[in-house]
Amino acid sequence: MTRPAYFLTDGWAHGKPTSVPGMLQGGSLGALRTVSNAVQQAIVHLGTLAAFWLAWRDGISWVDVSALAVFYAIVGMGVSLGLHRLFSHQSFRPQPWLHALLAVLASMAMQGSPARWATDHQRHHACSDRTGDPHSPIVDPFGRPMSKWRGLYHAHWGWMFNGVVTDKAVYGQAIWGNRVLRLVSNTHYLWIALVLMLAWTWGKVLGGSDRAALSAMLWGACVPAFLLMHGVLSATSIAHCIGRQDFATGDASRNNWFVVLLTFGDGWHNTHHMFPRSARHGLLRGHIDIAGRLIELLEKVGLVSGVVRVPERLIQTSVSRGVSDAG
Ligand SMILES: [Zn+2]
Ligand SMILES: [Zn+2]
Repeated sequence: MTRPAYFLTDGWAHGKPTSVPGMLQGGSLGALRTVSNAVQQAIVHLGTLAAFWLAWRDGISWVDVSALAVFYAIVGMGVSLGLHRLFSHQSFRPQPWLHALLAVLASMAMQGSPARWATDHQRHHACSDRTGDPHSPIVDPFGRPMSKWRGLYHAHWGWMFNGVVTDKAVYGQAIWGNRVLRLVSNTHYLWIALVLMLAWTWGKVLGGSDRAALSAMLWGACVPAFLLMHGVLSATSIAHCIGRQDFATGDASRNNWFVVLLTFGDGWHNTHHMFPRSARHGLLRGHIDIAGRLIELLEKVGLVSGVVRVPERLIQTSVSRGVSDAG
């Protein structure tokens, strides 16, 4: 296969072709992915453990709580607006500076580079709960059925370490063709360092000591990344098992309130699988979608355009109300 000229940091790395189109496995690219995921998981989880240990020992300060709230909201927008609705689904068109900012914020979530995230996610939508899906709880990427618990483990965690890589020559042409997104993605460890520094500075300025700075760094950079990561991973695992199927999408996607609470609205996962490009994921009555509302607000003030909407009539004729709860 001829590789496009825009392969940068992992251009030297190669995954081995598999029997599944658009899916590579092993090789230096598979190893790179496993190591990179392990490094980011270690920062997130060890940092969160340290934050809880310090809080248990010394208590938690208002500086820590404010760092958690502010960074959770800001980096969360990088995940929901950036990684998911913009880079993966092109649900709206932001001003160029906002596009770059969302890419930086998305990198701060420590969920892999934004372009890689979006490339994997496009494969998820192309192959939902079938052969080729990177993280279905029903079948592994080669289409082999899994038991319930093994499937949940794979969908929430194991898939990041199985050496399977999405071939960006198949799924990510538009994503990797974007110069700014490519640049931010290829330097994403720089942005991880930046969020650690910013949260540290938050504590230093507001708390006035190195101890306060260290604590704020953990509560502002690692704990939000931990919550957001498990929010997103719950969408891949829980929201493909437990919840309500308001639309007959032909896959196992569910609308799940718990996932909504962690993700600013991306837990309306069944609705999202029905209308993947819709900027709003909460399309049914009572389905609160903070990220969707924010996109509409940004549109009103002229910072984004081309917001993708689903006609109300189409929503009403598509809704099935036929299938519900755990499968
Ligand atoms: Zn999606
Ligand atoms: Zn899904």
